[in-house]
Amino acid sequence: MTTRPLILVTNDDGIYAPGLFALQQAMSAIGDARVVAPDSERSAAGHAITIADPLRVWEYEKNGGFFGHAVNGTPADCVKIGVKAILKQKPDLVVSGINQGPNTAINVIYSGTVSAATEGTLMGIPSIAFSITTFRKTDFSFAAKFAKYLAEKVLREGLPNGTLLNVNIPSLPPEEIKGVKITRQGRARYEEFFEKRVDPMNRSYYWLSGKKMMLDSDGDVDDVAITDSYIAITPLQFDLTDYKSFDNLKQWNIGIPDGQSSDT
Ligand code: MN
Repeated sequence: MTTRPLILVTNDDGIYAPGLFALQQAMSAIGDARVVAPDSERSAAGHAITIADPLRVWEYEKNGGFFGHAVNGTPADCVKIGVKAILKQKPDLVVSGINQGPNTAINVIYSGTVSAATEGTLMGIPSIAFSITTFRKTDFSFAAKFAKYLAEKVLREGLPNGTLLNVNIPSLPPEEIKGVKITRQGRARYEEFFEKRVDPMNRSYYWLSGKKMMLDSDGDVDDVAITDSYIAITPLQFDLTDYKSFDNLKQWNIGIPDGQSSDT
């Protein structure tokens, strides 16, 4: 008997999300897929973890059977508690998603989906984040099929230490998807504004809104690739050091100013 790979499945849209179910189904076809996901939507939670409050975990059922563990925490919490307390062993793979909405350009740093995969990478586990490029109700079947294909490849090949894959899949009929591009994080950003609204009690509140501004046109940029109907795979690393500035800053000879010592 060959052992099936152990796969931790999580997301940031929450345990009820259809994208998580699609990913769990796809991973079950290739391994022992275990779901540990937030009990509610935690999109844009970034890499936050919970340290001032206890984490509660309960078993969530779907279609009359056990589906996975729901946690009142963030995506990064789910990976930590999933590995350390629920699985109690290192899985062979961590997959996160399938997120509703693209995780490209600067969104990568706000993304709970990507941060869950980053957490897996920090724990030395090959990890992949999957997103579909629409916020609307959609058909996840092609994205799930691609996730299964790529997960099998990563299980076979492994990933370099410290590297995760951030995958964005266009929300298109399969025949309209042109292929796969290895991409880099683009510079698209949001022209942001706060919409001021009024609640039924006549109190005002604000809601962050914005319009995506594309600042790149190269075909190997994540946002350009998905706009051109390609699946974008961006290798990411969590070492945020700017190595060019690391060398340049050394030339500045930054020291302690005259007359001051470091402990005053
Ligand atoms: Mn999300």
